[in-house]
This record gives sequence, structure tokens and C-alpha cells, in this order.
Amino acid sequence: MEQLTIGALCEIIRQSAPKIYNSISIDTAIAPKKYNYCYIEAHTQRVEFKTERRSAAIDDSIATNLHAIIDSNDTYVRIDKDFVDDFNAAPKFSTEGFFASTKKKMDELMNGGRSVDHHDITLDTEGDKLSKRQFPYAIKAECGIVDCPNCKGSGLVEGTDDQGNTVSQLCPECKGNKRIGSLSYFVPKVVEKNISLTLCLEGEIDDFPLSAIKAHIDERPVAKRMLAHINGIDKEDFDDALVPYIDIVRDKTGEDNAIEDYYYRIVTCYTFTYRNIITGELKKGVVVNPSQSPEIVLIGNGSSKIINRMKDSAKLVSRFFGSIAGSAQRDKDDLKRTIRLLIATVVADGIVSEEEKQSLTLAIRNIDILTGKEREELAELLSEGDTTFLNDDDFKFHNVANRDETLARMQEIANSDGLVHENERDLIEKLKLESNV
Ligand SMILES: [Zn+2]
Repeated sequence: MEQLTIGALCEIIRQSAPKIYNSISIDTAIAPKKYNYCYIEAHTQRVEFKTERRSAAIDDSIATNLHAIIDSNDTYVRIDKDFVDDFNAAPKFSTEGFFASTKKKMDELMNGGRSVDHHDITLDTEGDKLSKRQFPYAIKAECGIVDCPNCKGSGLVEGTDDQGNTVSQLCPECKGNKRIGSLSYFVPKVVEKNISLTLCLEGEIDDFPLSAIKAHIDERPVAKRMLAHINGIDKEDFDDALVPYIDIVRDKTGEDNAIEDYYYRIVTCYTFTYRNIITGELKKGVVVNPSQSPEIVLIGNGSSKIINRMKDSAKLVSRFFGSIAGSAQRDKDDLKRTIRLLIATVVADGIVSEEEKQSLTLAIRNIDILTGKEREELAELLSEGDTTFLNDDDFKFHNVANRDETLARMQEIANSDGLVHENERDLIEKLKLESNV
């Protein structure tokens, strides 16, 4: 989606959230800034290899299995867990020394598991994922069978009986098994990570809640396989839009994954600057997902520079109009009188600035009780420059409570800017004198 102009953005706000649009004054001099928020779910599986080494005096059954490994054409030979258990149950035989060269070879070959090539092993899967439990693999180059060095493979050694006669005895080292076997193996360990994160490469919008982005994400995302290095498959096929985020994701999931599945969604946001009509504060707003389902988020982070430049009288009127906007049904003619008199009080002591005019106009436009035409007519009075638009009817309220409230407001407004201007005093005195209620 290309960059939106402030005009286009205003139109989106107006159409999708008219109430919000009417309650704020968007600063059209500030161009919208675009932020692409990327919500990512990553599901990864990595395989770690922990090598084990056993040596023991082995019987015929274990020897047969070990021979099958040694005679295999594969680098790594899948073995049963039962075989490992049998090997562990066999009489231990320390191979320090005579299997030393094999141990050195093992350390070099395995290199912490990094040298295991996935083309050489088949991992167990469940659906399209790796199973938690995996078969052990023997490392052929590190398996071996030798004759027992103590009995030279006979299983028997010479000893003496109680009477001092030389007799043949079971070899105490190999327990008569004759052979010493060495088994090196690893069990692939599957490490799984499931993470979700929201990233924005253009920086962060201060105080913008990321929950607003999440609300625009499909509920049941289906992750897509973008990386696979298992069972002879080599695939790395990342969507272009996702590529800039991969390194950031891998800071959390780790490198060298066997599988990487991703779900991602880019939610475009545009910021704008607006002034709150009631408080006059400058604040930041965000249009989330303008092209599909626009949502307007008004956030803090404002400054009150403009309100400080506004006259206190204009601030008071703006606030009062804002409070009328949400009030219950009231006498419409009296309401119009009130608005006309308050506008007159504001313009009575001098020029109304553009900022004040804009703020008051928006406050008037937001008064639901009035028709659009009535609102526009009242707003136009702000440009009059003096109080001559008032006529005698403006002072003849239907209801005394409405008149008293208006009078109180006018006095408040007149007092707000320090000295009461004589034009303001005249208006107040004229309303006080009206008694045809
Ligand atoms: Zn022996």
C-alpha cells in the first residue's frame, strides 16, 4: 500500500468513525507517518545431538548387533533403545587407554553434533513435525569389538585353587565373555520454540498499545513451512515480506533450526496529529489497517502548546460546547440563544484566532441536538468579528433556568481573561435586564 495523504486519511477517519472525527481537529499541516507492524508467530524445531559412549564385556547377542553396526554402509546407524539398554546392563569394562584413539576420533567427528548431516539420518515425525522421542543412532566409526586384553579372548585365565593347584578360571575382566565392545551413539533431542512477537522496523509509536495490532490478526492462523532441513529435505523459502524480520526472530528461536514455520501478518498504521476539542491538547492518533478495516486509536503523548495560546474565554466556551454535545434533550431555541450569546461574548473582546475558531467550530459541529444546517450557521458567526449579529430575540429565553445558566457562563467567560471588556459587560447587562420570561 502506498503512502496515504493527510486528506485521504481524514476521509478514512470521517467515514469509519464519524463520532471520533467530529470530536477532534486533525492538524492537516502534518503529513501522516506510515508504520508497518509485523505480527509474527514462529514455530521452530531444532535437533541437538548428545553423544554417549559405552564399553563393556559383551555376550554373543550384543556382539551380533554390534557387528551389524560395524558392517553397515552408513555413517550413523539407527539402533533400538533395547540394544542400548542391553549394552548398559553388560559388565562395564574401562577402555581408558586402549580405546583412546577411538575416543579422540569421536570427539573430532561429532564436534558437538554440528557435523551430523541430516541427510545421513532419518528423524521420526508426527504429522509435519518432529516427534519428541527419537531413535538413537550409533556412530559406526566409533564402534568396535576387541578381544579381552586380560584373557586374550579365551575367557579363561590361570589361577590356583585352595590346594595350590593351577586351574583354569573365568576371566575376571570380561567375566568369560571374551570380547570387549565399544558403542558410541547419540539420541537426537528435539528442542521446540513457539514464539509470537510484533515488530515494527520504522520504530515505535509512543504509548500505542500493541493489542490494537493483535485485534487485526486472524484468529486461527495457519503457519507456513519456510525452512526445513530434515530427512534429506533442504528448503529455505521465506516470503519476501518476512525476510527483514528473520534475524530478529532467530534472536529468540535460535539459529540452525531443522524446521521453521511462520504465520505473519503486516498491519499498516498511519499516525496523525489532532487537537482535542474539549481540552485543546495536541495528541497523536493512529489509523490501524486503513485499507481493510480501519480502526482509529487516539493515544496520549500530546502537548498543550495550542491550548496555552488560546484565550481562556475560548477554552471555557469550547469546554461548554463539548459538554452540551453529550447532554440530554433540551429546549432547542434556548440552546441556540445560549450558543449565539456565548459566541458573542468570545468575539466581544477582540479577534478570535484561527485556532480558537477551528476548535469552537468543531465543538459546535458535535452538538447532536442541532441539525447540520443549524450547526453550520452558528459556526459561521465566529467569523463575524463583532456582536452585531445578535438581535433582541436572542435575549428572550423560554426558560429562566436556561437564561440563568447562560448568564453565569457569560460572566465566567468575561472574567476569564482578566479585565471585563466593556462590550462583554454590555451583553451581560442586557441579558440581566430581560425579564419577559
Ligand atoms: Zn577376558
